[in-house]
Amino acid sequence: MTSVRRRAVERLPGEAIVLRCFLPVPLLLALCALSPGQDTRVHVVASHLSEASRNAIGRAATRALETAEACLAHGVEKRVTVTVVRRVDDLPDRVRSAFRSWTVAIAVTHKHQVFVATERLTSDPPSNLETTLSHELVHTVLGDLELELSAGKRRLPRWLHEGLAQDIAGEMLFGANDRMVLFRVRTGRLVPWSALEDSWPDDANESRAAYAQSASFVGYLRGRLGMKTIIGTARAYLRGEARNLDEALHQVTWGDSYTYRAGQWSQDIQGATLVRLLRDNCFSILIVLAIPLFAVVMYKRWKSERAAAARLDAWELQQRDVDET
Ligand SMILES: [Zn+2]
Repeated sequence: MTSVRRRAVERLPGEAIVLRCFLPVPLLLALCALSPGQDTRVHVVASHLSEASRNAIGRAATRALETAEACLAHGVEKRVTVTVVRRVDDLPDRVRSAFRSWTVAIAVTHKHQVFVATERLTSDPPSNLETTLSHELVHTVLGDLELELSAGKRRLPRWLHEGLAQDIAGEMLFGANDRMVLFRVRTGRLVPWSALEDSWPDDANESRAAYAQSASFVGYLRGRLGMKTIIGTARAYLRGEARNLDEALHQVTWGDSYTYRAGQWSQDIQGATLVRLLRDNCFSILIVLAIPLFAVVMYKRWKSERAAAARLDAWELQQRDVDET
């Protein structure tokens, strides 16, 4: 059955994409050099566009494909078809039915197809053409990995697909969502990870939260475990060497698991956000802390002046007694 992946994506500088990849730069360059070029690696179907535009899309898609391959350490041998239509209504029925109000493009991963609706594209990230292609081609490379290692019988969890797609593309579809993720962590309203294994929420708010928490968690995992370990466990699972990703990570790290890491991630978010709040509101916090200190100083000054006045009164009384004597 065809797998349909929806996109969502947060922009970081282009160089960050390369830094996130664990493949050595020389090997990355070699991959690029070995690539036969857009004509053979990526086929662009866009009848309403000029040949020059189709070629430009082909070059952008080829770059995105090579970046995804380098980051995921997996080369795609089959040619990828990128179909660009003007409107969502121009899409084939089976693809159009999967488009939601926020969907810009879709990857039909096990068929090596990507569909883009230009009416949903914007000139700036995250919904520009470059970012959109980067996101969808991560799904395509992961789908190819699923086909190669398990003949498509095993699939990687959706949270991992969407997390990696956003992380490698360097964009989150709905922008920075740290506060929303923190709110959901604190109120126990995260989308259950089990609900993001084989499916994805249809509700816009839940879907937005699912994209945000997937990107945040995968970013956390990349920082703690490294991309090499993440992809290694994905490969082990797809090859059937482990029943699930938890077991695959347990085998590599002697006791670690993604479930355990999800708990650590939520604790980390709360701690990191508290530090960020303190840093962002440093001046206000100092002002508030200074108020009691100011009150103490004023009180001491008032007390000291009162004591001085009392001493003066006593001295005047003494002088009067002396004069009268
Ligand atoms: Zn996606």
